[in-house]
Formats: sequence, structure tokens, C-alpha cells
Amino acid sequence: MKYYLEPLGCAKNQVDAETMIANLNDAGALFVENPDDADLLIVNSCGFIEEAKREAINVTLNFRKIYPAKKIILAGCLARRYFKELEQELSEVDAVAGSDSLDDIAPLAFGLTGEAPPRAASSPARVKLLSAPGSAYVKIAEGCDNRCSFCAIPLIRGGLRSRSIAGIVSECRALLKNGLLEICLIAQDTASYGKDTDGVCRLPDLLKALSSLEGDFWVRLLYLHPDHFPLDILETIAADRRFLPYFDIPFQHASPRLLRAMNRRGRADTYISLIERIRNFLPDSVIRSTFMTGFPGESDADFKLLLDFQHAARLDWLGVFVFSREEGVPAYNFKGRPSKKNARERKRILETRQIRITEERMGRFTGRLMTALVEEQVDGEAGPYIGRLFCHAPEVDGSLVIESAAALLPGTFVKGLVTGQAGFDLKLRVQ
Ligand code: SF4
Repeated sequence: MKYYLEPLGCAKNQVDAETMIANLNDAGALFVENPDDADLLIVNSCGFIEEAKREAINVTLNFRKIYPAKKIILAGCLARRYFKELEQELSEVDAVAGSDSLDDIAPLAFGLTGEAPPRAASSPARVKLLSAPGSAYVKIAEGCDNRCSFCAIPLIRGGLRSRSIAGIVSECRALLKNGLLEICLIAQDTASYGKDTDGVCRLPDLLKALSSLEGDFWVRLLYLHPDHFPLDILETIAADRRFLPYFDIPFQHASPRLLRAMNRRGRADTYISLIERIRNFLPDSVIRSTFMTGFPGESDADFKLLLDFQHAARLDWLGVFVFSREEGVPAYNFKGRPSKKNARERKRILETRQIRITEERMGRFTGRLMTALVEEQVDGEAGPYIGRLFCHAPEVDGSLVIESAAALLPGTFVKGLVTGQAGFDLKLRVQ
């Protein structure tokens, strides 16, 4: 049975897509890169916010229009969140995979295509990865207990469930053995890792365990909640240069009143001192964050506080999202929501101001000898290469243009001199 999978949503959903591919391949199915060649199409949907939900439905309806005869499965977060409604109403799909268990995809797929039931899934290792060459996401926990008032993820993914340190280390060892060079540790909130199993954050212990692995590789941490940032990890990161001084810390806002309404405990001044502590301990640190505009009750004064925070924090990278009113979460019923127009305008202002800040922050790498991960060659044989330095997380940050006299292999490390920048993209010449 040949199948195609359309991966939508976040990095955590991508790991689920890769796990479904591993299960289907292990059961004897064949993944094809082009939906034309498939017997079955799987849409691994995102169901987090309005925009993402609309995208998942559009992709699915489009598949039905283009491929009237093929079997279609809607999987992922949208399928989990609205399983009953979709089963009843979305006649364009042949099945809705609403269960948490990614092992169920193979029997469901084989059942739909009338093929002999597959051999039992053996939780095979992910082999086909959907990340750029050399990089992989490793999910260290599922679900979330933080219950931010605007967030539907706990409704979809449930409460926090951390994996064992041994399980994560053995998965990372296998990925590194397969030639991977960058491991991005992810969860809904990596700063809560282990709190469900041991009552305390075990991220420092996990990093110490990973530092026992041999070889030259990168470990990158994403999605660290600012209210309980585990400062103990800074020492481990300082002691092992394979742990990147890169921190993705979604602050969301700076107005104490709004942060309370978001069910967050931080304040602008505590967030600034966190940033300063990280930068004092690891001067090379790169900090990415996320802000939200348009949260119910956000006034001009609140927005001014966020602008002041942006100015003071001088973050390296910033993503800005407009509040999405999601049923089933507390903020759905909160009053005083600014107009979409206003929320979008505030987003535009923050993004415009951030360009200059990011350019200046990235400028500090010019003139330095650095290691880059090569991702792809532009324009086939002749062009330069595109890659990333430690200061670039996959897919979300700017990129690096790599000039090299010799041919380079995607998925490998190269050393070179950062010669300059174009906007916030950096340039490197291989030495
Ligand atoms: S920490 Fe993130 S995933 Fe968890 S509830 Fe808050 S926004 Fe959602």
C-alpha cells in the first residue's frame, strides 16, 4: 500500500507524523513523496488556533477535489479535538484518526485500503525524518499542565507526561548513530520535564545524561516556559559546548494584568532579570521568544508595556501571534477583546521594530570563526549553500548563506568565517 502524509502544525506534530510513517513502513506500507502516486492520503492536522484549523480543512478538501477516488485519513490535533463532529460532518474523508495512539494508524490505513491487516506495530524507530538534513526533533514529554487561559493544547494533548531519561538518551544515541548532528529537544513546555514523574524539573539531569554521549553534535532546547526556567541547566550548557546557548522562551506579554489573565505568574522585570542572568552566565546566548497581541482586555497602555519590554529585552528572534478565541478555554469568555484590525496592527508594529533589533543582534557574529550545519545547495550545482549556525533554530529563524570553493554535503558541519550579513541573514565563507 502506497501512502502520502501531509505534515501540518508544530514540531511536536512533526514527530507524530514521523512516528506514524515509521509505524506504517514497519507494517509493510510504502511512503511516497508525491500524493499522485499514493493509494492513501493522510493529513496530519493542527487544531491549535483558527488559522491552523482552517488550513487543515482546506488541505483535506483540496485533496478530495484533486483525488476523488483515493482514501483520505484526517489525523493529528484537529482530529483529536473535534473527533465526533468531524466523524459526523466531514464526509470528504474516509476516516478520522482521533486516538492518541500513533500505533493505530497502520491497522486503520490497511483496513481502509482492504489490504491484509498489517503485522503488529513494534514501535519502530523513526527513520524517515521530515526535518532538514542533519537535524531531528526529539519529543521529551507530551501534554501540558500549565493551563494558560488562551491555550487549547491541554484539551488536545492532555496533561504532562514525561518520557524516561533512559528512553530519550537511547533514542538520541540511535539518531546520532544514523548520522544526525543536531537534536532539538521539544515538548509543550520543556521546562516542566519530569515534574509529573518526579515532582521536580529533571531537565538538568537529562542534559547531564545526554552529555555522556560521544561525538560532535548539537543539542538545542525549545519551548522553555519563562515562569519556571530551570537555571541549573546553564552550568551544564556552559560545561559542554555541544549544548547550544540557544533558548526559546515564550514570554507572551509584559503587562502584569494581562499575564495574570493568561494564567502566567511572571512580570516584565522578572523576565528581564532572567534574560540578564542567562546572558551573564552564557554571554553568547541567543534568545528567541513569542509575543501575543489582541488578548482580551489589552489596552494601549498594556501594549506600551510590551513595546518597552521589547526594547529592553533586545531578543535575538521574535514571533508575534494574534490572540485566537478558542472554545473550551477560559479566555474564550473574557471580555474586552481588541478588534482584529487593532491586534494585527500591534503585531505589525512589533515585527517591524524587531527587524532592526535582530539585525543588530546577529551583527555580533560577523568576523567570527564558527561551525555551520549545511542544509541545502541553492540553484543545484553552482549556487552557494544554505545552512544554520547555533543561533538559528530550524525553520523559524533567519538563515546562513555559505560560500565554499569545495562541494559540501547537506547534513554535515563545516567551519568558516562569518563575513557579514544581508538583513538578519548571515554569510559564511568556508575555511
Ligand atoms: S505552556 Fe504552552 S502548551 Fe502549555 S498551556 Fe501554556 S501555551 Fe499551552
